[in-house]
Amino acid sequence: MSGYNPYDNVLAVIDNAAKLLGYTQQEYEQIKFPEREMKVSVPVRMDDGSVKVFEGFRIQHSTLRGPAKGGIRFHPDVDVNEVKALAAWMTFKCAVIGIPYGGAKGGIAVDPYKLSKTELKNLTRRYTFMIAPVIGPETDIPAPDVGSNAEVMGWIMDSYSMLMGYSAPGVVTGKPIGLGGSLGRGDATGRGVTITTQNLLGKLGMKLEGASVAVQGMGNVGSVSARLISEAGGKIVAVSDVSGGIYDPEGLNFKEILAHVSARKLLDSYETKAKRIGNQELLCLPVDVLIPAALENQINIDNVDKIRAKVIVEGANGPTTVEAGEALNKRGVHVAPDILANAGGVAVSYFEWVQNLQSFYWSEEEVNSKLQVLMDNAFKSVWETAEERKVSLRTAAYVIAVKKVVEALSLRGGIWP
Ligand code: NAD
Repeated sequence: MSGYNPYDNVLAVIDNAAKLLGYTQQEYEQIKFPEREMKVSVPVRMDDGSVKVFEGFRIQHSTLRGPAKGGIRFHPDVDVNEVKALAAWMTFKCAVIGIPYGGAKGGIAVDPYKLSKTELKNLTRRYTFMIAPVIGPETDIPAPDVGSNAEVMGWIMDSYSMLMGYSAPGVVTGKPIGLGGSLGRGDATGRGVTITTQNLLGKLGMKLEGASVAVQGMGNVGSVSARLISEAGGKIVAVSDVSGGIYDPEGLNFKEILAHVSARKLLDSYETKAKRIGNQELLCLPVDVLIPAALENQINIDNVDKIRAKVIVEGANGPTTVEAGEALNKRGVHVAPDILANAGGVAVSYFEWVQNLQSFYWSEEEVNSKLQVLMDNAFKSVWETAEERKVSLRTAAYVIAVKKVVEALSLRGGIWP
């Protein structure tokens, strides 16, 4: 879909929620705009001696409820509108699950898999240097997103600490454990997706045990979701990544697949008797649960009529366009929205930051049980709001989130100066 702008999606859901809440334009106008957009040019000396300059962003959508918070994406398609949308989704995600953060996102237009480790490290360090004036444990705290990982967070933490002259572990989350990362952070987003799937199926009188599940994306979110769902008894029938997918209605050997993707290998090199399918085919399979866990704009007006899943749990940010979401809602397909379903990651990022600030660390059991409580409570309030207002789960989530953000603005005394 050319011309697709994910920030239009954001504005549409904010307007819809604000209308339902009875707000005047004036009351919520401010939250339709990111507070700060930073664009940086990041020069890197490549291994062959040449110089390449990459375009990067750090965008803070809101700091009304606390410091800005959000991941850093390394992907060739990164652009300002995508980062703006991702930043706003973080604001509403943190609000809906009730953690004291605003929202931000960063990104660099680059294919990290085409860089050597030295080039990637140099890119990350220079980018950190460029955005250092606007990030910090009290101001804006990055984390991993598509194409970045714990190792990259370690480099950011080091670069920022060197600039400041003291060790600042709280400047990023999703760090390696040895640098103050939290136990449970690696699995947190997938764990949250799994908890949300269980909660939603429970409300619909369905069970995860034996349910057929298709997962798009085999990165951090997709692979962990599929692992935890299969451990909980779900039947993973289809998975995909950027190279395409595989499908077996009887269930795939997920342990074997996990070993393959964990070695950073793509699915097209995985040897199997299962049927080879494309990403579009995966999205349209007749499954109980579909988990889009790759990129935005996957379920859109072009394919929504072909979607046959009973339930969709959004592991990715923005995988369903507004129009497609409305069409699914009309058809009675329940969609657990991204700002609820994938919030486990930022929830444990918040736990990590709290541990960093107090320099006191929790066990994995403690982290997981706190996450369970947080996700269960958020699901309950979204479900109840949807029932009360007779709206979709997405609209309900935004009603809760927009209300909290607008209330914060009012509690601060309104616009100043
Ligand atoms: P990742 O880089 O670890 O994995 C991305 C996966 O998507 C890879 O398997 C890749 O091959 C696949 N992919 C890329 N382009 C694709 C395409 N065109 N079609 C199909 N598959 C494609 O990223 P991740 O961290 O797992 O993030 C995935 C999604 O989840 C993103 O929307 C991200 O914003 C969101 N998310 C991530 C976290 C987190 O903690 N990492 C938290 C919340 C939300």
